[in-house]
Amino acid sequence: MGRLAVCVCSGGIDSTVAATIASREGYELHVLHVSYGQRAELREREAVKKISAYLGAVELKFTTAEMIKELGGSALTDYSRDVPAGEEVKLDRNETPPTWVPCRNLVLLSLASAYAEAIGADSIFVGFNAEEAKSYPDNSKEFVERYNAVLEKAVASFSTPPELRAPLVDLLKPEIIKKGMEVGAPLKFTYSCYLGGEKHCGLCESCQHRRRGFREAGVEDPTEYEAFAQASL
Ligand SMILES: [Zn+2]
Repeated sequence: MGRLAVCVCSGGIDSTVAATIASREGYELHVLHVSYGQRAELREREAVKKISAYLGAVELKFTTAEMIKELGGSALTDYSRDVPAGEEVKLDRNETPPTWVPCRNLVLLSLASAYAEAIGADSIFVGFNAEEAKSYPDNSKEFVERYNAVLEKAVASFSTPPELRAPLVDLLKPEIIKKGMEVGAPLKFTYSCYLGGEKHCGLCESCQHRRRGFREAGVEDPTEYEAFAQASL
């Protein structure tokens, strides 16, 4: 039997490139998508279905951690709060962005780890990267190392702990897009917008990263945006 990988996939660029890398390494892909009450859930699910089919995943599982929404603390899950867009997106890294979801990656990884142990997967692939780690410490190399240390004691004595792998952990968005082109990732199927509209809004932080990433990578952006802010965003 080949090696199995659980790929945590939001439907965005980063996790899609990471899953594609797993596929190119010869892993049998078991894709996991987690809903946590995010605004874009419907679009994310559509994207993940296309991406999984394209990559030939043997299994696609949708699960939920919607308790995160009930616990609150994020503009992504509390629809009464505004998601910053356009000029409002702050580049100030001295405060927690409203789009932070409290401990989200820790919760998602707990589910992915349970899945990995259950099916005997030897790796869990995630799209954590240096771009996100600027604002979100649960995308950092240090977080990955510490999580792997926890995993050793999180599985049964006779299970082999899966390894959390973040192949993009040192890369910024343009480098991730270049990497995606190199490995043949289905970037055209990805969805990044925080707002969850049919088209990408073009103005939220995630859309801004996406637009800038394609532009700086020198790769044609396949995305249709509702609006274009200034080129400097
Ligand atoms: Zn957007």
